[in-house]
Amino acid sequence: MEKREQLYEGKAKKVFATDDENLVIVSYKDDATAFNGLKKGTIVGKGVVNNRMTNMMMQLLEEHGVPTHFVKELSERETLVKKVKIVPLEVIVRNVSAGSFSKRYGVEEGIVFDEPTVEFSYKNDELGDPLLNTYHALALKLATKEEIACIERYALTVNRVLKEYFLTLGVKLIDFKLEFGKTADGALVLADEISPDTCRFWDAVTNEKLDKDRFRRDMGGVEDAYREIFKRVTAKK
Ligand code: ADP
Ligand code: UDP
Repeated sequence: MEKREQLYEGKAKKVFATDDENLVIVSYKDDATAFNGLKKGTIVGKGVVNNRMTNMMMQLLEEHGVPTHFVKELSERETLVKKVKIVPLEVIVRNVSAGSFSKRYGVEEGIVFDEPTVEFSYKNDELGDPLLNTYHALALKLATKEEIACIERYALTVNRVLKEYFLTLGVKLIDFKLEFGKTADGALVLADEISPDTCRFWDAVTNEKLDKDRFRRDMGGVEDAYREIFKRVTAKK
């Protein structure tokens, strides 16, 4: 397998073509952004943590019946994945109130929900990823009814599996964002990443934040938080 030209450079990752048209290489950077790119910075070592942690989570989820884009970890920062056409929906699952949920509905952070919530945002940077519902997603032809139902089922399975897994590491999974894509043969698979950039993790005892909120909110200890969550995940293995 040969690495070819860069296809895309995003805020946190680069995507490269390979000599197989159905496979791409994702390369994780230390670049960090927040608030739709308004805040920019570097989190030293983040790319390594996010690459390796994502791959471990993808493999765990495959074991629980969730198909993913993961193929093979190539190095600290690079992974071979199935090339997909990303469904332009950010799928957000929440177990506890935080972030934009708290802001939007005027409630404190830390309220534990009886049932997880699933919500969608339209993945569109120019529009600032606006919240939308299933009717809107169908009207905009972002996905079919069947695909949306499947995405919702997978997202709830991901939540069940990861919530339980992180609890064994002394970590509460507060909320997270998923992206799904379609492979060349039309299969819907979990894509992108699962990392402290895309999840909120709180220490189960102290509620200390072990995720990107430390960067978003200028709390300090950002690198330490990424190191700590990574240490727990790798110690478990
Ligand atoms: P952004 O585009 O939001 O700046 P990233 O820096 O993470 O985000 O860039 C990675 C891009 O690659 C994202 O647009 C993501 O949707 C896309 N992507 C993730 N997994 C795959 C895949 N398996 N095939 C093709 N594209 C993917
Ligand atoms: N999230 C993400 N990318 C986004 C928006 C949200 O990875 O573009 C993740 C975020 O890390 C958190 C969850 O989705 O774990 C819910 O985020 P929220 O809607 O509360 O938005 P935020 O507070 O990050 O603006």
